[in-house]
Amino acid sequence: MPSFVIKEKCDGCEGQERTACMYICPNDLMTLDVGRMLAWNQEPDQCWECYNCVKICPQQAIEVRGYADFVPLGGNVIPLRGTDAIMWTIKFRNGTLKRYKFPIRTTAEGSIELYKDKPEHDYANLKKPGFFNMPEYPTL
Ligand code: SF4
Ligand code: SF4
Repeated sequence: MPSFVIKEKCDGCEGQERTACMYICPNDLMTLDVGRMLAWNQEPDQCWECYNCVKICPQQAIEVRGYADFVPLGGNVIPLRGTDAIMWTIKFRNGTLKRYKFPIRTTAEGSIELYKDKPEHDYANLKKPGFFNMPEYPTL
């Protein structure tokens, strides 16, 4: 059930060198036709339907489409990403719609300070085992 791009919605991330869907795909499947400013899944049979590209696309131009032989025709699953939750819309083939909101974070977007209260890194320790931010577990 690979992802596919709705060409009427895709704007090629407005000409950026690396589009959002190219950046996020863990399998490096999305590519951009620069001439048409249109992204596409270059190897659909390698897509594992992780929905990352669907969720990150700013134009909501990507969907994951089920194969007709084993997924009911007309059904789909559409995520709408917000800053703190994703609204999922499930459409059944008889037209029934179900929606639910799933929280995706507990802190305000951009508020996490990764290195707060952590010691300064020391390049002298680069090749030693252990982590610079775990002084309570000294390197061996
Ligand atoms: S993230 Fe969306 S708008 Fe951007 S290139 Fe991919 S499909 Fe197109
Ligand atoms: S659904 Fe996941 S694996 Fe498939 S193209 Fe999108 S990001 Fe890549």
